[in-house]
Amino acid sequence: MLASQKPAQKMHIRELKDWYTEYKKPLIISGPCSVETEAQFRTSVESILDKVDFVRGGIWKPRTRPGNFEGLGETALKWVNSFKKEQPFKFAMEVATPQHIELAHKYKVDLIWIGARTTVNPFNVAELAEALQGSPLPVLVKNPIHADLSLWKGALERFSKAGIEKLGAIHRGFYSYQTGKYRNPPMWQIPLDLKSEFPELPLICDPSHIAGNRDLVPEIAQRALDLNYDGLMIEAHCEPAKAWSDAAQQIPSTELGALLQNLLLRDASFTKENIINQLEIIREQIDQADRELLEAINHRMNLVEKIGEFKKENNVAIFQISRWKEIFNSRQEWAEQLNLDKDFVVEILRLLHQQSVKTQTEVFHKKEQNLNSTND
Ligand code: PEP
Ligand code: MN
Repeated sequence: MLASQKPAQKMHIRELKDWYTEYKKPLIISGPCSVETEAQFRTSVESILDKVDFVRGGIWKPRTRPGNFEGLGETALKWVNSFKKEQPFKFAMEVATPQHIELAHKYKVDLIWIGARTTVNPFNVAELAEALQGSPLPVLVKNPIHADLSLWKGALERFSKAGIEKLGAIHRGFYSYQTGKYRNPPMWQIPLDLKSEFPELPLICDPSHIAGNRDLVPEIAQRALDLNYDGLMIEAHCEPAKAWSDAAQQIPSTELGALLQNLLLRDASFTKENIINQLEIIREQIDQADRELLEAINHRMNLVEKIGEFKKENNVAIFQISRWKEIFNSRQEWAEQLNLDKDFVVEILRLLHQQSVKTQTEVFHKKEQNLNSTND
């Protein structure tokens, strides 16, 4: 994935410590994936009220396929508010349409977030930003479903332009067609790139949607804290196995306290742990750079195959000394411009050239074989 070429837009973002006087790192948002019944919501939330900054609860559920539970809308918001009157807490929910924002204002919701399926659509995001003009609501933007940092940044920029200063990002992992350890592989480099560009932007990890499985939630949460994330959003339900959505990944709400207690909060000042975190960040960047390097080599090899076919068809020899000299000279000049050691670059070029000749020879050979088989 290539980061956007467009220079970063200046965003006026308030750090989390400016959001509330009582803020203490990490910010904790927890509660059920969905508000299902009044009793389920109350039971799920009762045991976590003293452990969270915000209670979460899905009011409208974006479902990939129709026929699943899609949330109860305003009815559920009424239950939330009647419980709030008895035991005050701050409530956070996802919004996907301007009508949802209207209801968020009407029911005095304390924080809203934009879901991963909404961040992908600039039309949708623009509509929501418009509806939020002048609103004091804090807004968290989940990463888009697929690994596109520009879309994530674009959504944040749209809300920033609408005047939202209590703005943050939620990292919930990225869709993968292959099944693996995670439901949504974290690809840590992407949120870390976002954070490097906007250091004041609060970054919250959603280990539940990354994991897709409650057993993995603690280790992902710890990894996020090790990487200096500002907060966590964890799905917790009174009876997770019976949940109407995301049953496999919600933790029992009675276990949230122990999970949080077992997490090590790394010191953000210059300590040994902090050095380890920085090391992790740089290593992720090196991983990404290597990936891009290999993708570039792959691209070069595809071109080599193409030129091999062309040479064969036009009866041109694979190796031409003049071209090889030209490559050598120009690349050495480029190396100098880029402050790279010339010998090192020459070594890489020899290897690339060797592989290129090998591939073109294979192309020539393959064609001959095909020709032979048609002659038979
Ligand atoms: C959710 O938080 O319940 C949710 C639907 O998340 P996401 O947008 O990350 O899929
Ligand atoms: Mn969910």
